[in-house]
Amino acid sequence: MQPSSSVFKAIRIDQGPGGHNAAYVDMTEHELMAGDVDVDISHSAINFKDGLAITGARPVVRRYPMIPGVDLAGRVTGSRHESFVPGDVVVATGCGLGEAHFGGFAQKARLNADWLVKLPKSLTPAQAMTIGTAGLTAALCVLALEHYGLSPEMGPAVVTGSAGGVGSFAVALLAKSGWRVTAVTGRAEEADYLRALGAQDILSRDALTTSGKLLQPQNFAAGIDTVGGVTLANLLAQTQFDGAIAACGNVGGMELPTSVAPFILRGVALLGVESVRPRLALRQEAWTRLANDLDVKALEAMSETIPFTQALDRAKTIVKGAIRGRIVIEMA
Ligand code: NDP
Repeated sequence: MQPSSSVFKAIRIDQGPGGHNAAYVDMTEHELMAGDVDVDISHSAINFKDGLAITGARPVVRRYPMIPGVDLAGRVTGSRHESFVPGDVVVATGCGLGEAHFGGFAQKARLNADWLVKLPKSLTPAQAMTIGTAGLTAALCVLALEHYGLSPEMGPAVVTGSAGGVGSFAVALLAKSGWRVTAVTGRAEEADYLRALGAQDILSRDALTTSGKLLQPQNFAAGIDTVGGVTLANLLAQTQFDGAIAACGNVGGMELPTSVAPFILRGVALLGVESVRPRLALRQEAWTRLANDLDVKALEAMSETIPFTQALDRAKTIVKGAIRGRIVIEMA
């Protein structure tokens, strides 16, 4: 499927009289947006945000037409920036890709140099895409908890949406750092997968989806929440004195029906995490952590590789919460 000329395959989202529509199209390089580095994309990956962009379930796309895909990895084919030369293997995550600038669901990209990171030699492009925005976000959450001053001897940690992309990395990274991890999942059949990643306890998603008391038994010292809504409110109510929850997701909704009780009566902290434009130093710290703490076996366990031809259909299924771990897209 690799193009022989400047024509390449892409998934493009258009907004026409028929509404929001995503489809495979042939494009040419002159249709690419402005940028100083040209990249042949070898791998991408499906994130929840890509599913939202493709289905139009939430307003992710900020200009039309748009190529979705917040993550991409590949080889530089042309550069007008001193930091990159043809042949460099690079990765890009976030930075408005798939929202405001053409993203990774295509065989070619033209990007700003400061969005690109040269891939560490220890990682292949496929492994980098297994990590992608999901792994980076999980690592940023772990760092947020650590920078806040929390450590495993203070008590157990909890991860919601644990069988999903961010959740899987959060479980693996926390367990590797010595935390006793409770994995919250709506899929009991994923218990073995979650235990293999390092979870010691499995909790049904249902245990957190009904509104509870403002303060509840103090079950956790720390948490990483990908769900939001009532789930996050319950996590805050179950966090022990001086504990913290790192919140990064909203698969359960954008609202947060909580009270000030956990904050003012238990000193609980809510730490917001975003991965689109973290400070460079933080991004580097997160990638180093991922490279050091994740082994290839764990990466393989949490990823499935699909051809580009299946990417459109699979991206639609991620919004239903039906995907385990990460789906890597192979462009060739
Ligand atoms: P995935 O779809 O891979 O994982 C989400 C998981 O959440 C599902 O696998 C499922 O896990 C659980 N889930 C799904 N629906 C619900 C529901 N209604 N209630 C409770 N749990 C549910 O998505 P990602 O891991 O890629 O992303 C997770 C969240 O993090 C998204 O909201 C995404 O937008 C956000 N995100 C934020 C970033 C940031 O920069 N802040 C960056 C990346 C992602 P299980 O079956 O185990 O319950």
